[in-house]
Amino acid sequence: MKTERVYLLLGSNEGDRLQTMLEAAMQLEQKLAVGKILRSSIYETAAWGKEDQPSFLNFALAIDTSHSAEEILAIAQEIEAHFGRQRIELWGQRTLDIDILFFGKNCLETEVLTVPHPGIAQRRFVLVPMLEIAPELVHPVLGKTINELLEECKDGLDVKVFE
Ligand code: ATP
Ligand code: CA
Ligand code: CA
Repeated sequence: MKTERVYLLLGSNEGDRLQTMLEAAMQLEQKLAVGKILRSSIYETAAWGKEDQPSFLNFALAIDTSHSAEEILAIAQEIEAHFGRQRIELWGQRTLDIDILFFGKNCLETEVLTVPHPGIAQRRFVLVPMLEIAPELVHPVLGKTINELLEECKDGLDVKVFE
């Protein structure tokens, strides 16, 4: 069986943020994992892109899976829908967001999926949790490690560990 390591970023800035994200992580693990799963600490960041909204909690997950990227997206969207996510506006407030950051070393570009996720290098709230679980992972498009990308990142939003 061929497995890949998928890296996901979970985020929430509405409702019981932590509870939603932890339950979603359990569902992702049940539905996707064949082997190891790693979770970063939980981080809090002011909203990015559209700043007049509550702050976000985020964490990164690494899951070894035999599912395809398309299947992972479908499962992630099912779980978002289960937690009541409504797509009102891009970058708006949401109970749960699940983004596929990396899928092994694969680069994919379809109508519904771009992998690696195009926002990784510009977003400190993605790089900081990733640094914790995969500092030496090389971005297959940019050819730099998470460590290097974070050093070069110009995002000014502070990412704090959430107690
Ligand atoms: P951003 O992607 O900039 O973080 P967002 O998470 O708010 O913005 P969504 O409304 O959650 O955007 O997703 C819009 C669409 O993005 C989804 O319907 C999905 O088809 C597509 N998409 C493309 N690449 C990815 C990816 N790597 N992970 C998750 N969704 C993706
Ligand atoms: Ca997102
Ligand atoms: Ca998303």
